[in-house]
Amino acid sequence: MKTIIINAHVISPDVDIKNATIEIVGKKIASVKPSSASRLKSSSAGLKPGDTVVDVKGQYVMPGFIDVHTHGALGYDFCDADPKAIFEFAKAKLEEGVTTVLPTTLTVSHKELITAAKNAKKYDEAGQPYAKVPGIHLEGPFINVKCCGAQNPKYVRNPSVKEVKDIAKVYPVKQISYAVEAKDGAKFAKEMFKIGVVPSVGHTGAKFSDLEKAYKNGLRHMTHFCNQMTPLHHREIGMVGAGFLVEDLNTEVICDRIHLCDNMLRLIFTRRNLAHVQMITDSLRCSHCTDGYAFEMGGLKVLLKNGEARLVEGNNLAGSTLWMGLGLKNVHDVTGIPLCKLVRCTSWNQAIEQGWGKKLGKVEKGFLADLVVINPRSWKPSAVFVDGLQRI
Ligand SMILES: [Zn+2]
Repeated sequence: MKTIIINAHVISPDVDIKNATIEIVGKKIASVKPSSASRLKSSSAGLKPGDTVVDVKGQYVMPGFIDVHTHGALGYDFCDADPKAIFEFAKAKLEEGVTTVLPTTLTVSHKELITAAKNAKKYDEAGQPYAKVPGIHLEGPFINVKCCGAQNPKYVRNPSVKEVKDIAKVYPVKQISYAVEAKDGAKFAKEMFKIGVVPSVGHTGAKFSDLEKAYKNGLRHMTHFCNQMTPLHHREIGMVGAGFLVEDLNTEVICDRIHLCDNMLRLIFTRRNLAHVQMITDSLRCSHCTDGYAFEMGGLKVLLKNGEARLVEGNNLAGSTLWMGLGLKNVHDVTGIPLCKLVRCTSWNQAIEQGWGKKLGKVEKGFLADLVVINPRSWKPSAVFVDGLQRI
């Protein structure tokens, strides 16, 4: 069975082709050609019964987004005990154009983390019907209590390899955000690699020297760069300084123009190597919801007001309501950088770090046909393909 997407404006890393034709055979992209194929007629394309032609009428076709840091949507949080949560969450993410997601936990009890992993397993056993969930991201609980942000300090604890292994026995853990300055924090990075987990420095009060030790043990990832980490000072450059000094640190960036001001977005996207920048949403259960929505997160009250999710007590930002595609649009608007340069930050960089870089993150022959069709006016997806099948 074959699917042919015609009249596509293909945006892929270093590729921008207007009026392209994408041929999908099975799960994979068989060809991407600039062509007069927009005038393709079913009869002339060698189509067989059951084959499909999809005319996207000049809309953008990009690699399906990979969100490695997101907690929930539509009123559901991945840490909810109810297994329905991950199904609804993954469905909402797919509607955003996210084809692969690492559902992200909060700093909660071990029992709650095990429940979240069990729910991910249930989603897997049901055939992963919406966005693909190859594993999960643990945000905490091994963070710095002074840099909790909206994470509940009550559940913060010291790094424990055993605890991560216990969770990974239930469902694969792909990433962990933790404070490298914690006891044995540098060694912890090495232990995480041994079990296939990407260690990431986050919610941290680390000095540059703390990061250097973890870097020597392979750590190359920073959780929501600039947010809840040590700022740049001219005598102690902190984690923000580290992100600018060390080229190969993969920095997550929340591009909602709230977590970082426009000039910070300009600094990051014009001064850092774009091969090491990953856009994330860090979205909460209030994403895909409307203003006035109130909820609890890890036992803390949060209110959505003017599109901003903040703790009722203390007013800390609690995460975002961002959609991946709108984050890409924001950075494009703020920096003027061409989409074909920025688009690697929404999937390919993530795929490379996670070891999927030969099959995900590009609209190119041989890659899996995980694709999002973006309406260039609303910047929302009008169609989403996963493994060659149109799911939206
Ligand atoms: Zn988060």
